[in-house]
Formats: sequence, structure tokens, C-alpha cells
Amino acid sequence: MKAIRRFTVRTVLPESIAPLGKLAGNLRWSWHLPTSRLFEDIDPAAWADSGHDPVAFLGSVTREKLQQLAADEALVQRIGELDADLDEYLTGPRWYQGLGDEAPRSIAYFSPEYGISAVLPQYSGGLGILAGDHLKSASDLGVPLIGVGLLYQAGYFKQSLSRDAWQQETYPVLDPDNLPLTLLREADGSAAKVVLPLPNGRQLAAHIWRADVGRVPLLLLDSNVAENDEAARNVTDRLYGGGGDQRLQQELLLGMGGVKALRIFERLTGTPAPEVFHTNEGHAGFLGIERIRELMDPANESPMSWEEALTAGRASTVFTTHTPVPAGIDRFERTQIEHFFHAGLAPCVPTDRVLALGAENYADGDPTKFNMAVMGLRLAQRANGVAKLHGEVSRGMFSGLWPGFDTQEVPITSVTNGVHVPSWVDPQIADFARSSFGAESILDPQWSKVYDVPDTDIWALRRSMRSNLVDDVRGRLRSSWKKRGASGKELAWTDSVLDPDVLTIGFARRVPTYKRLTLMLREPARLKALLLHPEHPIQLVIAGKSHPADEQGKRMIQDLVRFTDDPEVRHRIVFLPNYDIAMARTLFPGCDVWLNNPLRPLEACGTSGMKSALNGGLNLSVLDGWWDEMYDGDNGWAIPTADDSATAEERDDIEAAALYDLLETQVGPRFYSKVPAQGAGAAGPSEPSHDGVPHQWIAMIKHTMATLGPAVSAERMLQDYVEKLYRPACHAGREITANQFALAKRTAAWRSRVHGNWPAVQVEHVDSTGVSEDPQIGDALTVSAYVALGGLDPEDVTVEVAYGRALDNDELSGVSVDELQVTENLGSGRHHFTGVITIDHTGSFGYTVRVLPQHHTLVSKAEMGLVVNA
Ligand SMILES: *Cc1c(COP(=O)(O)O)cnc(C)c1O
Repeated sequence: MKAIRRFTVRTVLPESIAPLGKLAGNLRWSWHLPTSRLFEDIDPAAWADSGHDPVAFLGSVTREKLQQLAADEALVQRIGELDADLDEYLTGPRWYQGLGDEAPRSIAYFSPEYGISAVLPQYSGGLGILAGDHLKSASDLGVPLIGVGLLYQAGYFKQSLSRDAWQQETYPVLDPDNLPLTLLREADGSAAKVVLPLPNGRQLAAHIWRADVGRVPLLLLDSNVAENDEAARNVTDRLYGGGGDQRLQQELLLGMGGVKALRIFERLTGTPAPEVFHTNEGHAGFLGIERIRELMDPANESPMSWEEALTAGRASTVFTTHTPVPAGIDRFERTQIEHFFHAGLAPCVPTDRVLALGAENYADGDPTKFNMAVMGLRLAQRANGVAKLHGEVSRGMFSGLWPGFDTQEVPITSVTNGVHVPSWVDPQIADFARSSFGAESILDPQWSKVYDVPDTDIWALRRSMRSNLVDDVRGRLRSSWKKRGASGKELAWTDSVLDPDVLTIGFARRVPTYKRLTLMLREPARLKALLLHPEHPIQLVIAGKSHPADEQGKRMIQDLVRFTDDPEVRHRIVFLPNYDIAMARTLFPGCDVWLNNPLRPLEACGTSGMKSALNGGLNLSVLDGWWDEMYDGDNGWAIPTADDSATAEERDDIEAAALYDLLETQVGPRFYSKVPAQGAGAAGPSEPSHDGVPHQWIAMIKHTMATLGPAVSAERMLQDYVEKLYRPACHAGREITANQFALAKRTAAWRSRVHGNWPAVQVEHVDSTGVSEDPQIGDALTVSAYVALGGLDPEDVTVEVAYGRALDNDELSGVSVDELQVTENLGSGRHHFTGVITIDHTGSFGYTVRVLPQHHTLVSKAEMGLVVNA
């Protein structure tokens, strides 16, 4: 029989333990150990059965048991203390509250996915986990962030394997009533909703669910509402579901619907309107159009022009790009965008302006496409990549938007990602930090105190975490094999898979091609020899999901799983299906080494290795993403990369060989070398130690924890965002909107004037005097430039002389830049600019002159993409 209606009956808690509801409802429990331990202690078996999900857990406790708990005085007191602690956490001043009024009152953060906890499966991989860690750290620091996203009915898929190792996907449907979410309601009790018009008179309505991530509210839009037609109901059915129109509608709902949801939230809760909008990757880019629509709305007292609204919106927008892989960027057909905007999504905004924002009007661009990252960059005055190297790669990748500028001038900076420490350190590390480093809580670890801890303690802790992983792997492998059709009797071997004393290497991530899941299989015999080595064997734990449409990724998984199925090696190498946060939390602490071998430089940042480092794991990685800037020679190993002239095949050969070599000669021997700490030089045979502990290895662990601990934390990341991006964007936004947007209007008028006159700007003639026949170091050179400015004034521009060493092809290197001063108005829009430079090196010397727009609202010289070179 099927129910015709269903509803969820929420547990009513007796008054003395009522705060349990609040403790379960705020996701802070997921990184606050005392709270999750409370649930566990109430009923360990039921806690495990619930999958560590407080909402499900409380729902499963019987009424009798609840009455019993309510009468347990010690428990009631413990609950009361945790309740008070949560209140203090939610309302007390934290780091951000010390920053003063210059800091934004509120910041909106938009992301298509959020990985906060295994109980809210709304993420596919790195981007989502990062967004989750961003919210959690914002909460810990008191940063007034509001998250905006979508609620997907089936989240991302669940992965299992067929008998022949082919990835199978299932999409279990979530019931929001059983998730830690509350529906945002109007004062009259009806569900608050946003509505977007769609073509052919249809509409897309969505309800707004609220999750509480500590102090940070997260608003999730859900299109599964009765008043939508079926297609509209399914818009949010899956993360990155469907293609084409569905994907576009998801992104319209996220961006435009998200801003509407924020406005409702402000009205209902009295939260201040965001002063900064952060677009986490291109998917959410339409938020900028909705904000322009608000400003151009003819119902306003003085509606703004397109240029004014764009100027105002850009000032307070931050865009973060996350991929150096062009295929990773969302692109739609221009005609698709046109079709949807003609339905009246933003009636007062000219559609051709919207189309121009996403146009690939640069060399190699496709004129039929609408590019979401390009729109993101044009709608944000500040943009960043997610590691230093990724910033550099992004400047190159998007340099077409700033023609005439050197790549290093492209206005994309970088903030290196980090990970939320309390979420990613093992509870044993958290306890250890408290007892050994005297840290109040893991939020405030004094990592350098790890040097004072005896090696034997560290080694015992590492073994204990490794041993937990071994147990977890055995259980997971057994259930995976059952799903693959094996019977219990066939599976006795799984009880002895892996060994808690063998060097354990982890490799887990999504499986796009560039991450090279199967690089380790390049020479199967060599891998086998490493696994079965008589003195220093390794064991490998591998996990990862392939995008359902990616056949190549699925084939890589199949190749790998087939290798792991071999009875000769299957006790030393395992593939675990359905990589998720719950698995990750045991996997990172349990691995001695974290392996990462992407094709450099295609890993934007990568955060897995950071999670490993926090738990005392050592990284073994290609110098890509974060590792490129944080590897220091003593905190792990760098896998050398082939140079650019190698073919893809040669590259894999070279890099796989380097990987095997490191494992054979460095990693394995060091892990198993139990040499005494004193005088443990690199050279010569050493005596075996008496305590059976590899001191050199532990020295690397201590160095890793002490130096990387603070560097990889998401608190450091959040502080960087606040200082480098949020505060400046807030300042610019306040300035530009003050006095009825006076500066926005002036700036927009100025920008239009500059654009209109730019074609007439020209460096007509350049002269230099003062250098003899035989120039010498220290000689002063007077540079004179005759510049035509059309209708612009000298104050509207900067005329620069750039000078340095001239290479054979006349490119300048080691460039210095000086401004020339206007010295004479020559009439008819022509001006004479001069300045003096000093020759500061021997050898070839060259200089050039260029003209750039100048205005105090510009963040970088390249911002407008306008330059005239001599
Ligand atoms: C950390 C993490 C990721 C992201 O890993 P990257 O190294 O950034 O690719 C993906 N999935 C889960 C479950 C994670 O914990």
C-alpha cells in the first residue's frame, strides 16, 4: 500500500531536556565535540544507527526513554551547560566584532553546493566542502555571513559498484522535514516564496529553507512546491543535474532567486542588508543581474541607468574562480539566455547588455556562447583564484578580457583555500591538543607545542588512528562486496584486509581525468612490488566518485578496482565506494601519507592534503595548487613533473616513475627506519632504536603540524578574505552608494565618457633626451610624450613610462613604471607629458610609453581593459 499523504511528526521533548532540540537543530554540533558526545552518550547504539544524525536520533528515542532522560539530573545539567555554551557562541563577541564599523555589517555568500555535514548531503566535492568550511569558519570568527544555495531533493548521487567494477548511481530522495532545516515563513504562517517568470507563461516558484551553521544562516531554495508544474518542480532535483535548460534554471534560481530570498530574509528577521556579495564560482553569477534589476526598477523613486547600476553593483561584489580547466566552466548558448530573459526575468534590464556580460569576445572565444565565469569577472570589481599558482594560471586563462596588458597585470588576485580545523581533525587529535598543547579548544590550537610532545606519544596516536581506519575499511569493503553480489562466506578475507602497522597511503577525490586516479597503475608490477615489499610494504586506500556522464572517469575506476580485486594484492589495496564527508573523517586521520598527482597546473588548490596535514599525515604530491606554495622540503615530498615539451604519455611515464621511485627510496624506508633521534644523520647505516619509533618520520610530522597547522586553516582563509576583499569591497560599496548613489552616477558618467573617447586616444610621438653617445649607469633620461586625448582631460588618464631590460624580441623584463606629468596643453586635445628616469642597470635598456584611464574608484590600472601603447 502507498500512503496518499505523508507528514513528519516531530518529537516533543520534555521541558527539562528541551534544549536538546536546539542543540540538534544548529549544525554546530557537527564540529563541536562536547555536543556530539552528548548525543552519543545518551544512547550509543541509537546514535550509531542514526548515522550520527541528531534529528533522526532524537526522532528514534522512545517516549519512555525521553521521560527517563528528563529525570536524570546529571544529564539535565549537562544539557543546560551545553545550551548556555551554544548561546554564548551564537551571541558573544568574536574576532570580527573587534574590527569596528569599517567592516561590512553583513555579507552574502552564494554557492551552488555546500558540504557541511554528512547529514546534509548537498555537495559533490571540493567546491562544496570549501563552501561548508567557509561558513563554519565565518561562524567561529563571528563574520556576519549569510549563505545562499539550493536544496537538492536527491543531493548528489550515491555510488556503488557492479560485480565488474562499473560505477552505479542511485539518487535517494531526501525529506527536508527530516533534515536540520526550517522553512522560512511569512508572519501569517504561509511559506515564504520567490517566483521567477519562465518562457511560455510558466513560472518557477521556490520555498526557502534555513539551516543554521553556528552563527551563519544558510538559505536553500527548493523548487519542489505544489504550485510549480512538474518540470519546474524538478529544477532542484539534483546537484548539477540534467543539462542545458535545467542547469540554466538552477543557476537563475540560485543567483536571481537567491537575492530575492535574501530580501525576504531581511524583511522577516531584521537582518541588515548585505554590503558585500561573494560569488563562489560562476554558477551563482546571475545574482549581479538581479541586483542591477533592483537598481533599475522603474518603480524606484529615481531608477538608475544600466551603467550606473552596473558601477554600483560591481563595487561591492567579489568573484572567486575555482577552476583552471576551461571545460570546468559553465557555458550556455547565447540564444538560451536570450530566450529566458525575454520571459521577463529582468524586464527593465536590456537583454543585449546581459548577453554582452557573458560574451566571449576575445581571441579563441566562441561568439555563440554565454560564459558564466566571464560574466562573474565583469560583474565583480574584485576577483581571486584559490592558491597563488592558481591566481597566476587564472590571470593567464582570462587575459583575453584585458587585451594589451601583461598577464601579471590582469586584476585577479588569490586567496589560498583552507580547511575548517574543528571539522577535520580527528577527535583524538582534538583531545590530544587539549591535553598536550594546553589548547582551550581545537579552535585555538598552539601547533608549535607539538615539538614538546614525546615521539612515542605521537606514534601511538598515529597508530590508533590508522587502526580505526583499518576497522572502518573492513566494514565498508564487506558491505561493498555484498552489494557486488558476494555472499558472506566468500568474504572471510575482508576481516584481515589492511594491517594497522603498515605504511598507509590515501588517495581520495572526485575522478576528473586531470586528477589521474590511475597514474599509480602505470607499471602494475612496480606497484605490486611496493605493496608486497618484504621490509617496507605500503597499503593504499582509494576512493572517489566519477561524474555520472563521464565514461572515461568510470573506466578509470573500473581499471583500478579490477587491480584491487586481485587476490594477490587485495589485502593491501582497496577502493571504497561512495566517498563522502563521513568516510573522509576517518580516512584523513588514518593515512600516514596523502597522495596527490594531478596534471600540473590543473588542480586549483586541492584541500585533501591540508586535512591530512592537520592529522599528522605527510603529503606526497605534485607541486600544484596549495602544495606548490607550502611544500618546504621537510613537510613531505614533491613528485617532480615532466617539462612542457613532453607528450601526455611521456608525462605520465615520467611522473609515475618518479612516484614509484620516491615511494621505494624515500617514503617507505623512512617510515620503517626505527633510528634513534640523536645523531640521526641522513648518511650511513644507523643502529635500530630501542623504542621502535621512526624518529625522522615523527620529526616530519611535528614540523608539518607546527608549520602547516596555522597556514592551512580556514580561519586564516576567512581573515584573508575579510582583509583583502570584503573590507575593501564594503568601503567601495559604501562610497559609491552614499548620497543617493552620487558617486555611482558620477563614475558611470565618467566611464561612458572614457569609453566614448578612447578610440581617439593616441601616443603620437615619443622623444628622449639626456643620454650621451655612451650611456652609463646613473644617467638621467628625460622622456617626452605627445599624446592626443580626444575629448578627455589629462586628469582622466595616466601616462606612464615603463622601462627595464630589453630582451632580444624587444620584450621588457624587470619592468619599472613611472608616471609622466602633463607639462603643456598643445591645443586640439593634444598634450605634452614629460618625466625623468634613471638608467639603473648595465646592458640592454629599453622603455615604452602607454596611456591608461585614471579614476580613484579603479582598483587596478587594467580594470577597464583600456590601454593605448606607444
Ligand atoms: C576534502 C574533500 C573533497 C575535496 O578534495 P580536494 O582535494 O579539494 O579535491 C572532496 N570530497 C570530500 C568528501 C572531502 O572531504
